[in-house]
Amino acid sequence: MLEKRTPIPVTEAIDKCLQHAKYKIVTNKYYTDSLGYTLAEDIIATYDIPMFDKSPYDGFAIVSEASEGASGDARKAFKVIDHIGAGHVSDAQLKDNEAVRIMTGAPIPEGADAVVMLEQTSLIEKGFTLRKPFTPGENISRQGEECKQGEVVIPKGTQITAGVIAVLATFSYEYVNVYHKPTVALIATGSELVEMNESLAPGKIRNSNGPMIASLCKAMGIKVKDYRVHGDDFDALYEVVRDALDAHDIVITTGGVSVGDFDFMPEIYNKLSAEVLFNKVAMRPGSVTTVAVSHDKFLFGLSGNPSACYTGFELYTKPVLRKMMGQSEVYPTVVKATLAEDFTKANPFTRFIRADLDYRNMTVAPSGFNKSNAVIAIAKSNSMIVLPGGTRGFKQGDTVDVLLTELSCEDSSW
Ligand code: AMP
Ligand code: MG
Repeated sequence: MLEKRTPIPVTEAIDKCLQHAKYKIVTNKYYTDSLGYTLAEDIIATYDIPMFDKSPYDGFAIVSEASEGASGDARKAFKVIDHIGAGHVSDAQLKDNEAVRIMTGAPIPEGADAVVMLEQTSLIEKGFTLRKPFTPGENISRQGEECKQGEVVIPKGTQITAGVIAVLATFSYEYVNVYHKPTVALIATGSELVEMNESLAPGKIRNSNGPMIASLCKAMGIKVKDYRVHGDDFDALYEVVRDALDAHDIVITTGGVSVGDFDFMPEIYNKLSAEVLFNKVAMRPGSVTTVAVSHDKFLFGLSGNPSACYTGFELYTKPVLRKMMGQSEVYPTVVKATLAEDFTKANPFTRFIRADLDYRNMTVAPSGFNKSNAVIAIAKSNSMIVLPGGTRGFKQGDTVDVLLTELSCEDSSW
């Protein structure tokens, strides 16, 4: 008898996955090797930035009072008594119309309270003149104006980008606590699948899901153990999945989760005593996407159809990977955009359409032939249009939700 599956809403399915995603181990990385990891500690300012009042320009440090009344007709003259570059400190104690020639980044000398840019001066023997008055504090970068010692500048849970590495360098975090990345195994199931260099005999197709999912993981900085293609043989497949699960935090399979005669994944979850969180979602494509858990480990049963497989990864696997990596932002980003063409199909379930979002004017259109078995439209997409279930057609000009899928991060270490 055909098994009856009850579909659950997409948001509920995502939340069920996230509730089970707990695995977080802290490890320590040399700061330049931490790109793509997630901070497991708050980064705290170990001193004020700037550390001292400094000049933001090449120019002259002056006592602002001495510039009072300066104008084009009544230029004020200043005498230069010292000259410093960044990294040097002047001993001068400025008074009246004395000035120190100062370069960007150098500390403001005692007594000075303004900086005149080189471009604002006319040079004369022993100094310069200027033609406008300066106010106290003008053109001075104040100590602590960017951050104060003790402040949390980057919170735990933030993914480490080039900017974060600049902050680690600034505050001497030579080693930084990050979350361990989950280990992922990937198995493409289906007796019809052949790999890159095998011949395409009648009835066979190329395994495109495997390399696609491996690349999606790689783009998140997660390395995948690729078990490659396995045919639809229950015993053999069970053994591969079991071994993969023993050795990894997450096992992603593609294909074999539907109700066909050779779809063995449901029976494999059963034999593994894994708890199935859901095996039917009210979505198109990918309604048969199945997620199961075993202790703290995950089994993602993605559909074999490429567009469905991709959608299942973006909606369920990606947020779980993010959470297990320790990231605090785990949900997909959804923006509003204007539909650039009619979409006449009715949507009994929430529909996800691989799409091309034009960021210049925030218009969006399907990125090509868009059935669940489509592959080229994935390559041409940077997002997915989300049409709510229970709606009829949509018209050009309608505002729709768009889920962003563009790759965001790459790991430098492999
Ligand atoms: P399944 O989910 O196993 O019923 O497969 C659904 C469809 O996706 C079938 O037409 C399969 O041939 C195709 N398919 C399954 N796995 C892959 C794969 N790794 N790459 C490309 N197409 C696949
Ligand atoms: Mg199959």
